[in-house]
Amino acid sequence: MKPIRTFNVSPCLPERLEQLRSLAYNLYWTWNTEAIALFRRLDPQLWEQTNHNPVRLLGQIRQDRLLEAAADNGFLAQMERALAQFQEYCHPEQTWYQRVRGTTTKECIAYFSLEFGLSECLPIYSGGLGVLAGDHLKSASDLGLPLVGVGLLYQKGYFSQYLSAEGWQQERYPINDFYNLPLTLVTHPSGAEIRIVVPYPNRDVHARVWRLQVGRVPLYLLDTNIPVNSAYDQDITDYLYGGDVDLRIHQEMLLGIGGVKLLQALDLRPTVYHMNEGHSAFLSLERIRQLMSEAHLSYDEALQVVQASQVFTTHTPVPAGIDLFPADKITYYVGHYIEAFNLSQQEFLSLGRMNPGAFQEPFSMANLAIHTASFVNGVSALHGEVSRQMFQGLWPNLPPTEVPITSITNGVHARSWVSEPLQYLLDIYLGPQWSEAAITDALWQRVDSIPDEELWRIHEICRYQLVMFVRSRLQRMLQSRSATAAELAQAAEALDPTALTIGFARRFATYKRATLFLRDVERLRRILLGSVPIKSSGKQHRPIVQFVIAGKAHPNDNPGKELIQEIIHFTRQEGMHHHIAFVPDYDMHVAKMMVAGCDVWLNTPLRPQEASGTSGMKAAMNGLPNLSILDGWWDEADYVKTGWAIGHGENYGDRHYQDQVEANALYERLERDVIPLFYERDENDIPRRWVQKIKAALSLNTPQFNTARMVRDYAHRAYFAASDRHFVLRENNYGAAKELAQWKERVLEHWYTIQILGVETSREHTLTVGEVLEVKAAIALGALEPRDVQVTLFQGRVNEAGLLEEACPTLMTLVRTTSDGRSIYTAQVSYESSGYQGIALQLLPRHAYLSHPYEMGLVLWA
Ligand SMILES: *Cc1c(COP(=O)(O)O)cnc(C)c1O
Repeated sequence: MKPIRTFNVSPCLPERLEQLRSLAYNLYWTWNTEAIALFRRLDPQLWEQTNHNPVRLLGQIRQDRLLEAAADNGFLAQMERALAQFQEYCHPEQTWYQRVRGTTTKECIAYFSLEFGLSECLPIYSGGLGVLAGDHLKSASDLGLPLVGVGLLYQKGYFSQYLSAEGWQQERYPINDFYNLPLTLVTHPSGAEIRIVVPYPNRDVHARVWRLQVGRVPLYLLDTNIPVNSAYDQDITDYLYGGDVDLRIHQEMLLGIGGVKLLQALDLRPTVYHMNEGHSAFLSLERIRQLMSEAHLSYDEALQVVQASQVFTTHTPVPAGIDLFPADKITYYVGHYIEAFNLSQQEFLSLGRMNPGAFQEPFSMANLAIHTASFVNGVSALHGEVSRQMFQGLWPNLPPTEVPITSITNGVHARSWVSEPLQYLLDIYLGPQWSEAAITDALWQRVDSIPDEELWRIHEICRYQLVMFVRSRLQRMLQSRSATAAELAQAAEALDPTALTIGFARRFATYKRATLFLRDVERLRRILLGSVPIKSSGKQHRPIVQFVIAGKAHPNDNPGKELIQEIIHFTRQEGMHHHIAFVPDYDMHVAKMMVAGCDVWLNTPLRPQEASGTSGMKAAMNGLPNLSILDGWWDEADYVKTGWAIGHGENYGDRHYQDQVEANALYERLERDVIPLFYERDENDIPRRWVQKIKAALSLNTPQFNTARMVRDYAHRAYFAASDRHFVLRENNYGAAKELAQWKERVLEHWYTIQILGVETSREHTLTVGEVLEVKAAIALGALEPRDVQVTLFQGRVNEAGLLEEACPTLMTLVRTTSDGRSIYTAQVSYESSGYQGIALQLLPRHAYLSHPYEMGLVLWA
């Protein structure tokens, strides 16, 4: 039946508990152990049933339980503690940001993402990209960065997973009840809802705005599910990653174009726009259009302003992972910008193309983002390298190593991912600042002072909790599909709380190779059953091994679903339910339980397709050694002290052979290293050498692969500089932007008339180590001036291919300009090692307002 009126009914809290509401409406609770304990204490069962949603908890809890809590001094004392910590957090004496940047800046960073993973109670994320965005906001809040998030609020979001009796993934889409989530509808002072209007072909689409408070950082989410929109438009914000290409374009227009308008409606004036993946790149179009119409800039001038203040982070090393739209769809949906920009259709489309002349090339959102950003990064060192190759075509004159795409390695938010008991332990032994400490801070040495016994007991508790959690999840799923009593009995005794537990949880994308460990089933069974006893400290151990696995396949990804089914079939083999469990409905809560309670974290992607991978970082922060292919973040971690590498990063170019070699390497690692070390116990049953690995994982990986470090990197390397450029280019009614646009036009016109006339060296052919070599170059700059260029001399070893290797740059100095227009540059270099060496000369454009010398993609080599 359809309601005739609808109401938003709020819970009736006793006065003494009124402040619980402020705690419930700020996601700060998701990383404060005291606040989590408080909500759980209120009603443990309901807390689980609501999927850890404090707003729903307070709305559904029995009134007599609330009255009881309001009269319970223990509860009130805990509430006061949580509230005091919350108050202190919201009003700190000085934040990191204020310390490094001062208190008077007018900076504002707008962070755009199609998904945000902040809590399991808000299913508006699908995987790593969203969780990263959520952790980014949390750390920005911790550091006091003036950042606001922009995203979409999905009515149904990403699906819940359950399994059929045949082990086939089924999807359910529970409806998000926005009024029972920690969301606030954003209104005008008058009380009227703020509405954003975005033009789409032949109509406008309206959106309302919700605010989600993440500590000190607000996240604004757009929602089109309102009656003024047509049925189709209401559904734009229905699903995350559902629907066809057209729907995806609708969503990306809403995020990018609607997002810019939303910030204006709130009177926020961002100085930096950060695009987390290319989904939001349409924001560049709207910003350019507004600058042209409001500040009367030309397209080129507006582009300078937009580019200077934009940051783009790419997340996928596989071309198939990038949004590509057919050119005709782009002109259909955002064609009104072509006219507004005074561009030809091909000029406009080249914003999303690698090759401006390739009329068949689809429009790539990543290319659009790169063309309109001045800082571009991948998410691990290896991914940076892969991205430079992948996007090399955008800078046809540059060698791949010079392509201006750098990397900032991902991290995870420590307080959100480290288990409660381990947080207490680290607070005691290291001090509460451990969660934001840098690798150089002395407190990491204190990890050695934690008694092995204490650390090990805490870990054993987490493993025990994981096993209980898995059993109850399995039972719940079986009950919901009316399974037999025998099946339920099996689930009740799944796994073994004392066995070596290997965790694997991620999206079931095929490149992640979730079933690699199943390649030799007989060998795997021997490993699981602990067939060869291990003797240590006079005792015989049966080295039993078990796997806990979780993950969702995208609803359209049948090969991914087949992998899940293969695992389910294996769990049903005789006796295997003690040794392997598939936990249904992987989400942030399952992830948190697993990264704390497993002993080893397994990762078997096809290198280099895992751009970073973050679940392994969560595990490392909980003291788990990683057992992983050398890919993403693990390639740059200390993979000897804090875990084990599978293979050496080889690429055989043959998928079948690659799988065979790496599965074999995995079994060998388990048999030779992991299992013996885990079951090597002293007389008190403590695995001393294993605990050393735990300590190394904590002290080496936590400070490095942490979003506190990551967001500080973004601030120092990207945000501050972009913000400074933004202010400079806007000065004097955009005078600097106009100057830069004109200068670029002039340089572009004359660049290829530059001639390198000759290079002389003070010595020829032979030199001794340490001897000074004088290099003199004569260059005809034509219509350009010496101040327009920078001349760099590179020196280095010549490799077998005849190319300079690890070349070291020296800026050359202009000594004079002759009357016939030759500019003479010199530099002095000397060689520190012997062998076959060479020099090269490079010319780049130079201007104070350029964000970097490769911005224009112009370069000349001699
Ligand atoms: C951390 C996390 C991920 C990302 O894990 P990867 O190792 O990058 O695959 C995905 N989903 C959830 C729920 C997570 O918590």
